[in-house]
Parts: sequence; C-alpha cells; structure tokens
Amino acid sequence: MSETISQVTNLLGLDRHQLEAFFAELGEKPFRARQLLQWIHQRGVVDFAQMTDLSAALRNRLADVAVVEAPRSIKESCSKDGTIKWLLTERGGSAVETVFIPETGRGTLCISSQVGCMLNCTFCSTATQGFKRNLSSDEIIGQVWFASQRLAELTAGEARITNVVFMGMGEPLLNLGAVQPALSILRDDLAYGLAARKVTISTAGVVPGIDQLAIGTEFALAVSLHAPTDDLRERLVPLNRKYPLSDLMAACKRYLAHDERRSITFEYTMINGLNDQPAQARGLRQLLDGMPCKVNLIPFNPFPGTPFEPSDDATMYEFQMAVRRAGIVTTIRKTRGDDIAAACGQLVGELLSPSERRRIVQAQLAAQALGA
Ligand code: SAH
Repeated sequence: MSETISQVTNLLGLDRHQLEAFFAELGEKPFRARQLLQWIHQRGVVDFAQMTDLSAALRNRLADVAVVEAPRSIKESCSKDGTIKWLLTERGGSAVETVFIPETGRGTLCISSQVGCMLNCTFCSTATQGFKRNLSSDEIIGQVWFASQRLAELTAGEARITNVVFMGMGEPLLNLGAVQPALSILRDDLAYGLAARKVTISTAGVVPGIDQLAIGTEFALAVSLHAPTDDLRERLVPLNRKYPLSDLMAACKRYLAHDERRSITFEYTMINGLNDQPAQARGLRQLLDGMPCKVNLIPFNPFPGTPFEPSDDATMYEFQMAVRRAGIVTTIRKTRGDDIAAACGQLVGELLSPSERRRIVQAQLAAQALGA
C-alpha cells in the first residue's frame, strides 16, 4: 500500500453520518453519502471513475482526496462442510481471519475486530498469538465487503451473508470506536441492510463496553461465560480478575433491564473434566436464574500445544439436559470448518511479546474504565 493512499480518507469505513460530514466539507449535498454507500457496499464499486451518477468534477475531486480501499485475500481455504476461511491483509502487513459459515437458509460471516487479541484466554489459539493492534472501521467492514464480493463470484449470488458475528479474532468491546461505524454500515439499508438482531457482538466480559452497548443498540449480545464460579473462570478468562462474575452479571442485568424484549446468549466452551461436570451445570442454572437468556455450548476446538481436550458427546448432552431442566434454552454449537482451522478459537493472528501485550491491555482497560 503506498504512503499517499494511507493519508487520504478511506470511504469504505465511513457510515452514512460520517460520509455526510465528509461531503459537507467538500461543499457537497448530503445525498452524496447515500450514493456512495450504494456504490461501495451494494454494487461493490471502488473506482470513483465508475460512479456514473456523480459529476466528472466530483469524481476527479474524490480521486484526489479519498480512496475506497478494501482488504485483499492472501489465502482462501474451503472446508468440506462448505465453510470458507480467508486470511485477509490489512494495513502495515497485518493479517486477520474471516470465516463464512453456510447453513440452510442462512449464511453467517464471522469477523475479526482486532489483529490478535490481548485477553489471553487460556483455551483460545488467537490468544497464544498475542495482540498487535485494533482494526479500523474500514478494516472491519472491509471483511464484509470482501466476503460479499467473493461469495458473489464463487457462488453466482447463491450464498449470501444473512448474519454477522463478531466472534473472530479480538475483543470487539475493546475497540468500540471502530466497531460502532461498522455496525451502522451493516444496518444501513443502502449498504448491507441487516436487521440488528442478525448481528451479534461477542464479548469475554468487558463490563464498561456492555454498559455502552446497553444504551440504544438492538444488536444481539453474546457473553463468553465458560464457568459459573470466579476461581474456575479466572483460569480460563483472565479478564475475570478485572471484572468478576458479580460485576459481569450485574452488567448483563443492566443491559437486559433497558428493554424487556432483550435476551443474552451465554457462550460456554466445554472442556473435558474442567467445566463440564454436573456441579458446574448446577452453578450455571443458579447464576442465570430468572434471566432472559440462552446458553450455547461450544465443543472445545483443539489447537497445537493446548493442554485442553473437548468434552465427549455424552457429557455435553448431560450438561445440556441439566441446564435445560431450569427452563433455559440450551443448544450445542455444531463445530464448523475445523478441517481448515476455522472453528471457534482456532483463528490465528500476529505477534507481540507477552510484556508488550500486558502493557497494552492495561492501558486499554484503564481507558475503558475512564470512558464508562
Ligand atoms: N473476544 C470475544 C470474541 C472472540 S471468541 C469473546 O471472547 O467472546 C468467540 C467465541 O469462541 C468465544 O465464546 C470464545 O470463548 C470461543 N472460543 C475461543 N477459543 C475456543 C476454542 N478453542 N474452542 C471453542 N471455543 C472457543
């Protein structure tokens, strides 16, 4: 990527509001924003010269001050179950992974919000790769832009993105500044037009971020729980030391209290002998008692070097039944794309040293706490 390009505005990551402000600065009418959204996100056009309903003068002006720059794929892997994983290049030589999971009647795109992750969950392979940086909004929405274009090419428009989940690399609630415009573009009828409930934000439990989301968003919230007690959860999700279960559950309740139609999905990765016993099922029932929620059990996906193993099917089934007995809808997530390492927790990023990662995570968390 040339230096000049990175200094001009990348219109790919601007939502309608931001595009209107951009055009206002150029002395143009706000409706230009609507035209641009459609050209970029619905027609997949990145070259201003092809935007035929803009005047030649405006097209030239745009070419001077802006670009529409999307990520490119360095590697495409297709699973035998139809899952497709892309390794996409982002600025500065970083790479992130994006996964498309086709199912009957729907297609889910799993996107990344950061290059690597700083949370260090002990059962997640992204964590073992360290944290490099936050993605910008154009790099986040760029994954959706790229996947839509590529799927149209690969399947002649048959496979479509109907759902988007922030369950790839990174912690979306530690990068809300960039995630928010991407969410707004996902919803915009002139871009992807997804209903808010078709977009899920998954968090390891960043309490101030949950509170921020609670106000005025209708996006679906998933919370990665994995354990019903603090001592066990701390071993799996170190962030639990900062936001213990009492704080996390209080934030979930505040989120739910904003709107009685809301519900939360609790993700629970099942690890053999560690968090899959009847005592934990009981603990989970107590913890979630009376909350409008759903539990999604995820079989642990192994990766090289992990000491953990997945729970066996019978144990998972028993656990599922035990939680269901409390009247909580409990499902077991089917593992998809594991033959191409595209399943949950198998996505890999680029490296920073552990000490650098600790420094950055502390700074981020401090900033979050101040912003709350
Ligand atoms: N940081 C966010 C989103 C990324 S992870 C979060 O923590 O929610 C998406 C989901 O995959 C989370 O529930 C995470 O705990 C789970 N996961 C991570 N590694 C896994 C693994 N090896 N096997 C199964 N699920 C895993």
